[in-house]
Amino acid sequence: MDSQAKLHSLFPRAEIEAAVSRLASEITRDYHDKSPLFIGVLKGSFIFMADLVRLLDFPLEVEFIRLSSYGSGRQTSGRVKVVQGLRSSVKGRNVLVVEDIVDTGITIAFLMDYLNKQKLASLRLCSLTDKPSRRQVPVDIDYLGFTVPDKFLVGYGLDFDEKYRHLPDICYLEG
Ligand code: 5GP
Ligand code: MG
Repeated sequence: MDSQAKLHSLFPRAEIEAAVSRLASEITRDYHDKSPLFIGVLKGSFIFMADLVRLLDFPLEVEFIRLSSYGSGRQTSGRVKVVQGLRSSVKGRNVLVVEDIVDTGITIAFLMDYLNKQKLASLRLCSLTDKPSRRQVPVDIDYLGFTVPDKFLVGYGLDFDEKYRHLPDICYLEG
């Protein structure tokens, strides 16, 4: 991957908007009376989280957690650590994890396991995208935006070496 890499739009912003509003309706149906705690996985989920919560008209709280999985580049290391933890207590809360992409599943399986040990009232997962062809660890996604092909995605929060997060479309890189 170098500066010759070509960007192709996979989901333009209008399609993303439609998917996020569908997810907001599903989440409203299930959480409107539960004062949920949304936990976004940094950094990739920041734009998705911002768009999603602005469509929700009921009490909720937002937290972020930062995990290390990928270093720079495209390969997952298979080892996951909490790099920046949660500031508020999650005990007794209805927690919805907000993720950008489930690829091998290693990262999110680690996080769900980590949260499951903390006496939550409930725990579910909302992911913008799912790349099932790459799965190594089984993961249940309760609210899903898009199933995606085995391509390296960037844009709408997703990066390659910290670049491209600001693109309004979900794109893939080729080159
Ligand atoms: P997993 O542990 O499921 O293999 O991958 C988890 C993390 O790797 C995701 O949360 C995401 O940050 C990163 N990742 C996986 N696939 C892609 C991709 O296609 N594009 C980008 N930008 N990041 C990805
Ligand atoms: Mg992520």
